[in-house]
Amino acid sequence: MKPTTGSRALVVFSGGQDSTTCLYWARERFEHVEALSFIYGQRHKNEVEVARELAREAGVEWHCMELPFIPSLSQGCSLTDPSMSIEAEKDPEAECPTTFVPGRNLFFLSIAAVYASQRGIYDLVTGVGQTDFSGYPDCRDAFVKSLNVTLNLALSEQFRIHTPLMWLDKAQTWALAEQLGVYNIIRYKTLTCYNGIVGDGCGHCPACQLRRRGLEQFLKRDFE
Ligand code: ZN
Repeated sequence: MKPTTGSRALVVFSGGQDSTTCLYWARERFEHVEALSFIYGQRHKNEVEVARELAREAGVEWHCMELPFIPSLSQGCSLTDPSMSIEAEKDPEAECPTTFVPGRNLFFLSIAAVYASQRGIYDLVTGVGQTDFSGYPDCRDAFVKSLNVTLNLALSEQFRIHTPLMWLDKAQTWALAEQLGVYNIIRYKTLTCYNGIVGDGCGHCPACQLRRRGLEQFLKRDFE
């Protein structure tokens, strides 16, 4: 597909299945793509190394920024608190799982917008989606559209936040990776697992379970 919305884009990039699929999605549409990763106290520092290597392989300029304040804002979050168990998060009464880092996408997208605008980039790409996700409010379409307006006003610019996965479930996200010709990269080189294991992961954490369910559906072609 031809670039339609601008020639330069910045992808908010964790090195997981979703953002890596978005990285290649962006590469098809924009002449120049950069990736921005964040270090925010996540359990697995190798996430950042995985992201760097994936960006290198994609031929994309990679940047990394530290957000050391995030753990102090997310007490009780199992992603940034190593004393908590991720497996124990399944409280069906809870509105959000314990892996929720409050405001994470708010911070990531806002900082990415400021960072991008300083580099003359106004197209932002994020892998958030509201179809298959765990109930994180700042992954929803209404939030992203609202933030887009706010960023335009805050910086007096015209940003476009692209969310290619917003309405895709995990099986459809695998299908998109295949369409983009990067199924093997996504399957074997990305890191989604909360226990820090690349590719198919540990198999039992919530992120692995979600990823595997989608993969099985995709492999059986059991989706729309
Ligand atoms: Zn896992």
